[in-house]
Amino acid sequence: MPELPDVELFKRVGERCRGRTIERAVVGDPGLLNGIAAAALERRLRGRRIEGAQRHGKHLFILLGEAGALALHFGTNGSLRLVAEGEAEPPYTRLELRLSGGERLAYLNPRRIGGISLSASRAAFVAAAKLGPDALDPAFDLPAFAALLRRSKRDVKSVLMDQALLAGIGNIYSDEILFQARIFPGTAAKSLDDRAASRLFGAMRETLATAIRCEIGSEQFLTAVPKDFLLSERRQGGHCPRCGAALATVKHGARTGYYCPRCQPH
Ligand SMILES: [Zn+2]
Repeated sequence: MPELPDVELFKRVGERCRGRTIERAVVGDPGLLNGIAAAALERRLRGRRIEGAQRHGKHLFILLGEAGALALHFGTNGSLRLVAEGEAEPPYTRLELRLSGGERLAYLNPRRIGGISLSASRAAFVAAAKLGPDALDPAFDLPAFAALLRRSKRDVKSVLMDQALLAGIGNIYSDEILFQARIFPGTAAKSLDDRAASRLFGAMRETLATAIRCEIGSEQFLTAVPKDFLLSERRQGGHCPRCGAALATVKHGARTGYYCPRCQPH
């Protein structure tokens, strides 16, 4: 499931299109459009110049100058690809932007969860969607993070995954961050003392930055994951990469979280 580090890689794909003009936009699946019809979106994208890409949490924005920003969400297994001239259309292409120069920017989404919309800007989208600060926003500092933990009545994993409090982290990276910080996922957020909050904040920043640096979301997926990451063992029957204990699971709604019962004691 694409989380902040994965979407950061999609942002780089979008940035490679900077300066290109959208010669034609083709909506492959109107069911993913939010607040705009296929014909209207195709018309509004046509002829626009791509001026760059931005990210907020798990959302990506393709900047289109005065036409605003094309907002993309990747749901559970969406992605963004630059397709070479002459290359066949990748399966599950839900939106294709045919660019000047011959390449196409393809938004793929096999499971059709996620969304495509047009917004005035990233800031306008973030405000309307009521998203919390991006987890890597330099302005979101330790005091702000600690305050957020103190205010919550929930467990720390739920707080990390709540996009209205903090944008970008889902099931996989909340597990990783808690593992790196050695904190049990079911710990009440407000019970964490200053030292634990600081350790968790550091682990959040470091884990996300490492994932981006290693390009974990790319196709090399497992070879790119650092050996001390829970991700390399995060499955049924997996073992802690630090101490070798069998990993345990914890249910969060429909999701299964993984942790090491020895390194992250209750
Ligand atoms: Zn362990």
